Amino acid sequence: MTNTISILGSTGSIGRQTLDVAEQLGLRVAALTANSSAERMEEQARRFRPRLAVLTDESAARDLAVRLADTDTRVSGGFAALEEAATLAEADTVVTAVVGMVGLKPTLAAIREKKRIALANKETLVCAGQLVMDAADRYGAEIVPVDSEHSAIFQCVQGCADRGEIKRLILTCSGGPFYGMTYDEVGRMTKADALKHPNWKMGPKITVDCATLMNKGLEVIEAMRLYRLPLRQVDVVIHRQSIVHSLVEYRDGAVLAQLGTPDMRLPIRYAMTYPNRGENPAEPLDLLACPPLTFAAPDREAFPCLRLAEEAASQGGTACAILNGANEEAVRLFLADRIGFHDIPRLVEKARGEVPVVQNPALEEILAADRAARRAVLGK
Ligand code: NDP
Ligand code: MG
Repeated sequence: MTNTISILGSTGSIGRQTLDVAEQLGLRVAALTANSSAERMEEQARRFRPRLAVLTDESAARDLAVRLADTDTRVSGGFAALEEAATLAEADTVVTAVVGMVGLKPTLAAIREKKRIALANKETLVCAGQLVMDAADRYGAEIVPVDSEHSAIFQCVQGCADRGEIKRLILTCSGGPFYGMTYDEVGRMTKADALKHPNWKMGPKITVDCATLMNKGLEVIEAMRLYRLPLRQVDVVIHRQSIVHSLVEYRDGAVLAQLGTPDMRLPIRYAMTYPNRGENPAEPLDLLACPPLTFAAPDREAFPCLRLAEEAASQGGTACAILNGANEEAVRLFLADRIGFHDIPRLVEKARGEVPVVQNPALEEILAADRAARRAVLGK
């Protein structure tokens, strides 16, 4: 059970919900970080009184220092300060809720300090899953997933002493806002259409990833890394209602699932209270009021990002870092209205074709693959 947390990315969707949970559970907060949201960070710092508040954007950090001058919170700026926030002695758990590969180095730093990692930042595991999991084993740091599917799986494997008993992980996928459309219909969708997710309210990057199904592709890789399973043991099914959060099929044919309302505060809370649970003030799941639960196969023709992610997963090495770096950059361009929806898979495929894959990469090679993929997307 967690007593004190630090949150990397506290001003975002997961970060804010983590603070709600911290308040409910009476947790202390040691450090909060964000990129540039000074005003929101000021509110959070006044409410939760962390020892350290970090904004990676230096000029926003100077603004924050002025805003918090009358408090006991110390303010730091720049990327190195993220690592300081991730390693403060008093925090037993670090919630990684930043978006993107930028979460990798601070996550590794927190692991070296044996913190529990409540991991939302899936890009870290996609790019450097082997390194992160090996470091967690070496330092004895627990990694508890926050992503709802991986939390569901984590809950369904409690009590499973031998991972060899697992036949298959089945990740559920809402299908996103463009479910049921053909490839051509999907290509006509705009940014405003992509930002309307049917069941979850999330940050813009992951919302676009849900529309392309890249999110599910990243989650397939995340599940492979967390549970050290090959691609053939990780499946995806479309489940529009987002009630069954994922399933584990065992060798004897038993299939275990975790169900709940679509509310990220439940997996966030479990990452704090694990291995215990405790009372949750949220509305309970009412099975009799649920819509019928349906399951279908994903359409990899209409949504090529899922296929591209699975191809990178089976290639291994730096292929997933290339996939992720290209996708982060392409989604950034899409959100800036500079490319269309189908340009996202096109640019990811281009980067995958241009950047050579290195097997068993060291951290520096992963970071270099990420940079090369971004350059390939930008045509530099
Ligand atoms: P948001 O965009 O809502 O929030 C991102 C947070 O990270 C903000 O605090 C932001 O600060 C900070 N941040 C962004 N860029 C940088 C940077 N370059 N350096 C430092 N900090 C940065 O994202 P979400 O909360 O939606 O997602 C966070 C992570 O959790 C992602 O990896 C996502 O895939 C994963 N996740 C999210 C889910 C959800 O429901 N939202 C569900 C499952 C997983 P600022 O406000 O200053 O920009
Ligand atoms: Mg998820």
